[in-house]
Amino acid sequence: MRKIHALATLLDNLTYVVQVGSSAVVIDPSEAGPVLRVLEAHSLKLAAILNTHEHFDHVAGNDELVRETGCKVLTQADIRSAGDGAQDGLVSVAGLEFRVLVTPGHSEDSVCYLLERAGDSPPAVFTGDTLFVGGCGRLFTHSPEMMWASFTKLAGLPPETEVYCGHDYTLEDLEFALDLEPDNEAVKSRLQDIRSMVENGRLTVPSTIGIEMATNPFMRAKAPALRKTLGMEDASDVEVFAEVRRRKDRY
Ligand SMILES: [Zn+2]
Repeated sequence: MRKIHALATLLDNLTYVVQVGSSAVVIDPSEAGPVLRVLEAHSLKLAAILNTHEHFDHVAGNDELVRETGCKVLTQADIRSAGDGAQDGLVSVAGLEFRVLVTPGHSEDSVCYLLERAGDSPPAVFTGDTLFVGGCGRLFTHSPEMMWASFTKLAGLPPETEVYCGHDYTLEDLEFALDLEPDNEAVKSRLQDIRSMVENGRLTVPSTIGIEMATNPFMRAKAPALRKTLGMEDASDVEVFAEVRRRKDRY
C-alpha cells in the first residue's frame, strides 16, 4: 500500500514523499528539512530522489538529502535514457514503477511521473511546473504548441488520476479561471472549495485530471464559453491555449 505525503516547502513549492512499506522516494525536494522529518516520523528509508526538472527551487534539497540518507539521485540524464530521449519510459525504484512522461514546455527537461493504480490507490501523476491545479507553468523554453502537446498527454490520463503539482498557486489560478468562464458552475464551486482550503491552511493537492478538465482553463481550449470570452470561436485549440497563457502572463 503506498501513501503520498505532500509537503509545503520554500515559499510556495510542493514536495512529495511517496511511501511504500518502509521505503520512500521523494519528488522535487525543494528543502531537505521537511523531508527528513517525514522520514523520521514514519521510520522510512529514502531510496531515491526524482526531480521533475532542474530549476533550482525543485532540486535545492538534493545534496543535503544525499549526505544525510545516502539515497541516490536519479538525474535527468538517467531519466532521459529510461525515456529514450524524447520518448516516455519507465523508472523502477524501491518497488515503485514511475512512468516518465516527457512534457517539455516550461523547461527543456520537464517530465511528469505517473504511478499506475495499485490496489486501493488511484493512479497519481506528479506534474512539476507543467500542469498546476487550475493552471499551467510559464513557457520558458518552448512554444505553446509544445506545451499543448504535453497537456494533451496529461488530458489523456484516466479522470480519477490524482494530480500532484510543483507549486500551490491554486487560489490565483482559479480566480483567473472564473474571469474567463464567469458562468461555469464547476469553476465557481471549485473556487469556493479552494478558498476554504486556503483559509484552513490546507494544501490544495491532490486534484484529479477529471477536476482539471472541468475547471482548468489551460485544459479547456475546446470549451465554447471560454472561446466566447476570448472572441476566438473559430480558432484552433492551440491558439486558444496560447491566448489563455498570454492573458495569464499579464494577470
Ligand atoms: Zn520550474
